[in-house]
Amino acid sequence: MADLPLMITLMTVLIYLLPSCIKSSEIILPKSLNLTLLTDPSAISAASHDFGNITTVIPGGVICPSSPAEISRLLSYASNGERKFQVAARGQGHSLKGQAAVLNGVIVNMTCLAGVVISDDMKYADVAGGTLWVDVLKNTAEKGVSPVSWTDYLHVSIGGTLSNAGIGGEVFRNGPQISNVLELDVITGKGEMLACSSQLNSELFYGVLGGLGQFGIITRARIVLNHAPKRAKWFRMLYSDFTAFTKDQERLISMADDAGVDYLEGQLFMSNGVVDTSFFPQSNQSKIADLVKSHGIIYVLEVAKFYDDPTLPIIGQVVDMLTRTLSYLPGFISMHDVAYFDFLNRVKAEEDKLRSLGLWEVPHPWLNLYVPKSQILDFHNGVVKDILLKQNSTSGLTLLYPSNRNKWDNRMSAMVTEEEDVVYIIGILQSATPQNVPEVESLNDSIIRVCKDSGIKIKQYLMHYTRKEDWVEHFGTKWSDFSKRKDLFDPKKLLSPGQDIF
Ligand code: FAD
Repeated sequence: MADLPLMITLMTVLIYLLPSCIKSSEIILPKSLNLTLLTDPSAISAASHDFGNITTVIPGGVICPSSPAEISRLLSYASNGERKFQVAARGQGHSLKGQAAVLNGVIVNMTCLAGVVISDDMKYADVAGGTLWVDVLKNTAEKGVSPVSWTDYLHVSIGGTLSNAGIGGEVFRNGPQISNVLELDVITGKGEMLACSSQLNSELFYGVLGGLGQFGIITRARIVLNHAPKRAKWFRMLYSDFTAFTKDQERLISMADDAGVDYLEGQLFMSNGVVDTSFFPQSNQSKIADLVKSHGIIYVLEVAKFYDDPTLPIIGQVVDMLTRTLSYLPGFISMHDVAYFDFLNRVKAEEDKLRSLGLWEVPHPWLNLYVPKSQILDFHNGVVKDILLKQNSTSGLTLLYPSNRNKWDNRMSAMVTEEEDVVYIIGILQSATPQNVPEVESLNDSIIRVCKDSGIKIKQYLMHYTRKEDWVEHFGTKWSDFSKRKDLFDPKKLLSPGQDIF
């Protein structure tokens, strides 16, 4: 008993020393593989964290492949006989909760495999799996062509978004990014290198798209291209009435096949959050702040129309439609005329701003949901008004906009709310401090609980479940195919274990 204080002191010292001497577990690759495994502290540390900044998962090592064949050799070795280690492809690590991580296993740094080759007829680009979407845009737009579906943020990888879905303001018109892929090269969990498409190895093709990295590592994707417009007319309009806001959003996306807008999203200004009015003229900014204060929530409809020649009559028609037939608050419309590239790359400016304030590398307990159109008002009342608006404060952004369900292909692994033609995309994108992560996470849990209790049929996007039954529920009728595909393409369960599915 006399030694107890000494033992406590020793244990305390150990606990404090531990993080500085955490070592990755040792993986030894046979020389015959001819692969370099990086195990230096900087490589390990960079691969242990992600954008979510909530988890730390330490890999055994990192490889920077110089060709797909190297990944194939790694996976053939790891899957041969007894499972030797698990493997996770990592794009930018912009996951939220360790989805691109692997404990004691090998991270494949996909950014080492990047590049864009545009076909002669300029109808598609063959893009290496680790390429950033911003680089696809730079390479294609230079030749007057462009992919047709974008995420809000372009500094994410091809393989990373195609493993999820890749959603944004063009989904209502062109579908998610996974709907705009013609072919893939994939290395399965057994190390096989397979090309696949809707015609060739289709089981693998549909499995991998939205497949959360479970069936193979994408080393090449053939992405659909179309004409790249030169400029965008980019509008934001304010609403104080939720029904008027969603009615206008839904009307605009119903014109997806006509000459309507090219991009549509929406966000909320809430009186308990940060209200960024900088898009609007200085003369309107304090009026907007007053509106938010008096209404509690102001809804921001955001659209863009792309164009080449400013004299095209269509631009005039669209501007006319927006200004005359939509029921935003009179006077609260603002338009910017920007280059197509700058419009698509708009979040980079936000990133730079947040980085300069030290607010980018903070915890991000984000919650992304799909909500069916028939229940969006219930969601608004039960979640936005009754939960979010009642918080003392919120930090970050809340997105809310509809998209057309028929632009998704149900044969793919990606899940989205079924049954209805229109599905709302919701992003409750809160930033946190290390101290209040549990509080924000429990807020997210309560949002999910309220939806379940009130029968709102949500599906999560970029989710992280730890219980098998949650995954089974998430995939619903697709679960059986999803787990069969796992047995077929990754029977040793090597790939992307950070998703915690198998
Ligand atoms: P990672 O986080 O590195 O990987 C994600 C998953 O895919 C992991 O399981 C990983 O193992 C697997 N994976 C990675 N590469 C491959 C590959 N080549 N083959 C097979 N599996 C692979 N998403 C949207 O859809 N729309 C948005 O508007 C949007 N906006 C965002 C804004 C910000 C600021 C951030 C940080 C993220 C945003 N995202 C958005 C989320 C983004 O799409 C995901 O984080 C996605 O995972 C891409 O990030 P990544 O390339 O870093 O992938």
